[in-house]
Amino acid sequence: MSVEYYRQPDFVVCCFDFLIPGLNALIPLFCQHFKLHALVVIVTVMNQKIWNEFRPLSSEIDWCESNYAILSNVAEFWNTVSNLFFFVIPPILICLFRQYSCQIGPGVNLVWILLMVVGIGSAIFHCTLSFVGQMLDELAILWVCSAAVAIWLPSRYICKYIVRWKFQSFILFFTTLASIAAFIEPRLNQFFLFSFGVPALGFLAQELRTCTCPRVYTVGMKAAAWWTIGFLCWCSDRFFCHIWRDVIRFPYLHSAWHVLVCIGSYMACVCYAYFFAVYEAPEQAPALKFWPHDSHTWFGIPYVTLKMVRSKPVKLM
Ligand SMILES: [Zn+2]
Repeated sequence: MSVEYYRQPDFVVCCFDFLIPGLNALIPLFCQHFKLHALVVIVTVMNQKIWNEFRPLSSEIDWCESNYAILSNVAEFWNTVSNLFFFVIPPILICLFRQYSCQIGPGVNLVWILLMVVGIGSAIFHCTLSFVGQMLDELAILWVCSAAVAIWLPSRYICKYIVRWKFQSFILFFTTLASIAAFIEPRLNQFFLFSFGVPALGFLAQELRTCTCPRVYTVGMKAAAWWTIGFLCWCSDRFFCHIWRDVIRFPYLHSAWHVLVCIGSYMACVCYAYFFAVYEAPEQAPALKFWPHDSHTWFGIPYVTLKMVRSKPVKLM
């Protein structure tokens, strides 16, 4: 192909017209004598559009921390490194939940892996402030929420005529559609997050109200407390940045949000795992323990253990 093809203004204009309504009018109707060349241009323009989304600072969102203040190739240094907890806690949980994974089902590991994906997405976004990074950051949260719902929602909350694998397939289908829609219209992602996040919070609150295990109740309340403080940090960074940057000179509240939401989220997930086991496998006597020592209830990492283990595991998820 010669470069001359790209320089013919008539069909370039024509094909730009196509790109905006969504390519459904198709090339041959208006660009018949340029059919092949128009296709080349469309591919070129689309490539250009896609690569633009990867570019640093292509996102419309910019947090309070000053850009490129510490390293010349990292947009928001502290907002990037504060995702470290997402790479430390989930691998520990994968080890601690080994018995749970064998006896109840390996789906639990998917949630821990997706928590790491949240950390990866967030680190990429704050490192580059690119649109693709923003999407990865937001969509990873949606994926972990939908995985938690699909895996841990007790059967009593699902219509009895729907078997679990069908319910999980529906959640997978919905999440895939939501992810595609969020790329087309990023604001939709907040709506999808609410559609999973609010019921999940309601479920946790309801279960904690009737929970008879003081350890689970304490962990659930701590998760709610970390989430609340984290959310306040997020809002302060977003809406009162000028005060934190110019008056207090501490524009790092979004970093605190990362740490707090990571701790709050994994604690909430441990509670969901516990409630699922209580409903679906009560004969295995699920209980909460802490690592590295069971007496470290304040600083230890909580996990679910099964006191009565079946010789032949029955996978429930
Ligand atoms: Zn962030």
